[in-house]
Order: sequence, then structure tokens, then C-alpha cells
Amino acid sequence: MTVSRGREFLSIPGPTNIPDAVLAAMHRPAIDIYAGDMIAVTHSLLEDLPKIFRTTGRTYIYAANGHGGWEAALTNVLSRGETVLVLESGLFALGWGDMARMMGVKVEVLKGNPRRAVDPAALAQRLAADTAREIKAILVVQIDTASGVVNDLAAIHRAIASVVHPALLMVDCVASLGCMPFAMDEWGIDVAMAGSQKGLMTPPGLAFVAANERAHGAHQRADLRTRYWDWTFRNGEAHYQKYGGTPPQHLLFGLRKALDMLFEEGLDAAIRRHALLAEATRHAVSRWAEADAVAFNIVRPEERANSVTTVLVQGREPSALSDYCREKCGVVLGRGIGELQGRAFRIAHMGHVNAPMVFGVLGAIEMALGALGIPHGRGGLQAAVEYLGREVRP
Ligand SMILES: *Cc1c(COP(=O)(O)O)cnc(C)c1O
Repeated sequence: MTVSRGREFLSIPGPTNIPDAVLAAMHRPAIDIYAGDMIAVTHSLLEDLPKIFRTTGRTYIYAANGHGGWEAALTNVLSRGETVLVLESGLFALGWGDMARMMGVKVEVLKGNPRRAVDPAALAQRLAADTAREIKAILVVQIDTASGVVNDLAAIHRAIASVVHPALLMVDCVASLGCMPFAMDEWGIDVAMAGSQKGLMTPPGLAFVAANERAHGAHQRADLRTRYWDWTFRNGEAHYQKYGGTPPQHLLFGLRKALDMLFEEGLDAAIRRHALLAEATRHAVSRWAEADAVAFNIVRPEERANSVTTVLVQGREPSALSDYCREKCGVVLGRGIGELQGRAFRIAHMGHVNAPMVFGVLGAIEMALGALGIPHGRGGLQAAVEYLGREVRP
């Protein structure tokens, strides 16, 4: 017996739910790439994306996934043999570093605690020891989608400033842009990159890189530049140069609609919505964790991300729980990845999500915990409902 018919609830941390209005905006014929609408859409996106990154710098749009955005960011500012410092906090910064290594960049990893955010004091200490100023760039993620941690970028910026180190600060905000506050200029971020398919509610296939003056300065010297990613080429006069070829039209139409929706809601309101839904989720997980089989991966409450919650399960394969949710209830949860494979599941609350979607997911998990006999504290869903009822006033 299952109760899974009905709309499937996708609760994986990317790709996320695509609003019907975004799907509808893409449902149109191809158009001329040399005139009219296409040029207007490009123009409006290049004007609006910096508002979301909160920068006066430039933004570049690539037909690529997040990994492509990583490569775009690295190749435009680095040279072979230069050193970058990767701030470990879960999985994704390490992946970005691996990519740099393969390009001939020297990669040093500042080890982190897998259940904690990056320690800004450890960063300041490492940078202070770099008296020869060999570290050219620092790579860090805002939210690590595997561990569920959020790093304090303002504190990381202060740590760098405290030792007056000139390294570029490069941030992956794939899983946080549109979901948590991000302030590129205020936090001294030189290069930021993101993708379309998480907080920005658009299908996978677009990557964005934002770069300030300092990044463009490094770009002049960088020898890893290649034609497809190259900012200089993309800043050329011809419209096709903005995409290094044919514009990914339909994704751009979708993105245009998604940004309209985000601005209509208000960026701050969207960020507040994510905070509320994340906290509702954490209220449920906290209840479940009253028995010892279930726990937050991220130990400190203030270091837990507002776009994804990673939950450890002991004494039972977490895949039993996600299988149950998918097969019996039509709810698709994220699995543990990297070191957490076979040890955790992930609840995404990112992008186009509202309260009943979160309640539905939490209710299915609670049902699975009961049906599978995984010990857990009762009333998780109730705690989530009551929390939101207190916060969202008439
Ligand atoms: C999803 C994700 C990526 C990778 O994006 P892809 O589109 O899968 O290449 C990179 N960094 C973070 C933090 C992510 O969550």
C-alpha cells in the first residue's frame, strides 16, 4: 500500500522546485538572437543580477552548471603555479579546490571540523603566517549543501582584513543566493559564483559569476584564461559574446521570470521566508532528536543553513527512510553525500517553497520514522506548525 499519488514533493537541495510561471515563461518559440527581445532580456538580466549579489561589480552569465561557474571563476583570475587557500567546511569548497589543482594551481586546504563552520580565527592565523603573500585567493562556500553549514562571510572578511592580506576572496553562493543574506561588496568579496537551479528557481544550466574591480585587475594578469570563460571576450560589443555563442534562450526566459518573482516578493522577504521555513524544520528535527537515533549534523544552531538541513541517523540506514518517503509518500529527500553517505538524509527548504510544502515533507519523515521503528521524540510536525503560527501573525 502506498499514499504516494498526487504531486511529488521534491525536497532535494538542487535542482529545486520550478514555479509553474517559470516553466510557462520558457514555453515559447526560439527567437532571433541578434535583435529585439533577446537583447532586452540580456540587458535586464545583467542589470538585475548584481542587485542580487549586492555588488556594483559586473556579472557574467554562462551556459553551465555550478561546476562550470567554478571553472569560470578560477580561470579568469588565477595563473598556473599560484597558491589558493581552500577553507574546508563540508564537501563543496574541496571540490572547487580539486578543480583548481587540476588546472595547475597549488591548493592548500585549511582543515575544518566537518560539523562546524569555518573558523575565522584559524584563517587569520594562517594568513598572518603567509608573510611572503603567496596565497593569491581564498575559496569558501557560503552554504555547504552536503553538511548543511552556513559560513559567516562577514567574519571571514574581518579575519582577512585584520591581517591586511591581499588575497582575493572567492565565494560559492550556489546554495544560498536568494535564500540567505549575501552582500558581496559589504563583505569584501571579490568573486562570487552561483547557479540557476537552487534559490533562483530556474532549471539547471546557467551559472553566474560576479566580479569586482580587484578581480578584474587580477584578470589582466591571469594566465589560465580560456576563450569560453573569458571576461574580456564577454565584455565585447557583440551580443553573442555575452554568452560566448548562442544564448541559452529558454533558460534566460525562465530566469527572467524567476527574478521578477523574487523582486515581487522582495529579496529580504524571500530571505525571511527561508529563515522561517528552516527554523520550522529545525523545530521538528529538534523534537525527533530527543531520542538518540536522530541528530543535526551541524552542532551549533547558529551555524545551520537556511536552505538545507542535514540530519544524521544512527542504527538504521537513512536510505530506508528516504526510500519509504519516496515510495510510500511521494516525498523525495536528499541523501547524505561525501563523508555522510549512508549516515544522513537532507531536507531542502530552498527556493520556491511554502509552509504546506515543508509541513508535508516533515509529516512524511515523521510518518517514516514511526513506520520504520526509528526511535524519535514525538510531535516534530506539531512543533513546526506551532513555531510558524507564533511567527507568522494575522
Ligand atoms: C549544487 C552546488 C554546487 C554545484 O552545482 P552543479 O550545478 O551541481 O554543478 C556547487 N556548490 C554548492 C554549494 C552547491 O550546493
